[in-house]
Amino acid sequence: MTTANRIGRLDGQLLRPGDAGYDESRTVWNGMIDRRPRMIVRAAGVADVVTAVRTARDLDLELGVRCGGHSGMGFAVPQDGLMIDLTPMGGVHVDPAARRARVQGGALLGALDRAAQRHGLATTAGNVSHTGVGGLTLGGGMGWLARQYGLACDNVLSYTMVTADGDVVRASRAERPDLFWGLRGGGGNFGIVTEFEFRLHPAGTRALVAEYTFPLDKAIAALRAWRDLNAEAPREATFTAAIGADGNVVLGFVWVGDPVGAGRLARRFAALGRPAASSVTEMSYVDLQCRDDTVARHSLRRYAKGHYLKEFPDGAIEAFVHGGTSDGGFRPNVGLQAYGGAIADVPDEDAAFSHRGTLFEFGTGTSWTDPAEDEARMTAARRSAAAMAPFANGVYVNSLADEGAEGVRRAYTPDKLARLVALKDSYDPHNVFHLNQNIQPSVG
Ligand code: FAD
Repeated sequence: MTTANRIGRLDGQLLRPGDAGYDESRTVWNGMIDRRPRMIVRAAGVADVVTAVRTARDLDLELGVRCGGHSGMGFAVPQDGLMIDLTPMGGVHVDPAARRARVQGGALLGALDRAAQRHGLATTAGNVSHTGVGGLTLGGGMGWLARQYGLACDNVLSYTMVTADGDVVRASRAERPDLFWGLRGGGGNFGIVTEFEFRLHPAGTRALVAEYTFPLDKAIAALRAWRDLNAEAPREATFTAAIGADGNVVLGFVWVGDPVGAGRLARRFAALGRPAASSVTEMSYVDLQCRDDTVARHSLRRYAKGHYLKEFPDGAIEAFVHGGTSDGGFRPNVGLQAYGGAIADVPDEDAAFSHRGTLFEFGTGTSWTDPAEDEARMTAARRSAAAMAPFANGVYVNSLADEGAEGVRRAYTPDKLARLVALKDSYDPHNVFHLNQNIQPSVG
């Protein structure tokens, strides 16, 4: 019997090296990833996912799960293994009366945003529309609505999941509450989610981005004033700060809601000093959600790291401004995005997601095209992350790169990590789902 025969009947496609569509399916966001699975199952539905999981186990093939392909480590693509490409399962069904969305496990954020906005509804999703609902939501899911409605995972009412044994289970507050807890922040460690049921909110039709640009020598004073304003920011506002490769510092906020309040907040930005340039731009929520799609496009070589900051003292401001300066000549982009609001309202024990008391998430990242620059680029990003490390209280699991088990320990509080290990022991003791920020089972 050939390998192809042994996989059994599929509603979707089986792709092998050389097949049309194989290269497209294995190509993910980070241009550094060039792995060749032995087979790719482009799953058309739950039955295909079950078949693929059982096949991978029967043939002892390493299993990768692809949704949006945005994992910087390229976890979706196993070298010589079996990749389940969920992207054909990209459907979103909105029930406007119940304010619910049923979202298939391979959907991209843009599909969810567009389907919900047709009814004037939205839920928290990330800032780039070609990110996968799957990976983003399983890690937590930060976005411009999170300060109003919580993280993406806080808005999931139920999950349908295929286990490592190929069983189909449901998790909600009422059914398998332990699994429901773990899927809210524990990543793709417990199985393959084929459907997320989201709560939607009557929100998000109007949005605004305010940006004030300062030269580096004015950055410290401006950032102090920005930090102090953030403490009083309404929940419609998510404060942002960025220093680009050009060294300019852009401070501002993203607003989702009635722009009148945004105007009031924008006037208070006079406290930052006189900017070299400024802009206040109104747009639709759907346009906001696509605003960074080009700069964050697929195919460039990429490396990024992050930290959670509970406080942003003056020393951290210095490190943020000066920590990215690299003698290799490459300056990574560094940024901050505010947390707080509804994220912090959720009781800590409610979900695996940790560090709800975060004030800002720090991120440093760089993109390039020439492989000869790989080491210098990554070193520059590591250096800027190291400068901020003394001020960090943890890290977002979806911002981890190549930190391994040490990174996973920073992503979760010790008690939550112990609970996640226990859950892993019961759902995936043989660590079938290990191409991720891995919760290692204690058995197996
Ligand atoms: P993939 O590479 O397809 O999947 C990553 C991993 O997630 C897989 O290896 C698998 O373990 C797991 N997985 C994916 N789908 C499923 C599923 N259905 N069932 C089980 N496991 C699954 N994060 C935020 O919170 N907010 C943001 O605004 C944000 N913006 C981003 C912008 C860009 C350009 C990028 C590259 C990342 C961003 N992230 C953001 C981080 C993002 O959440 C993670 O990279 C996430 O892992 C991407 O998910 P994906 O489905 O696109 O990736």
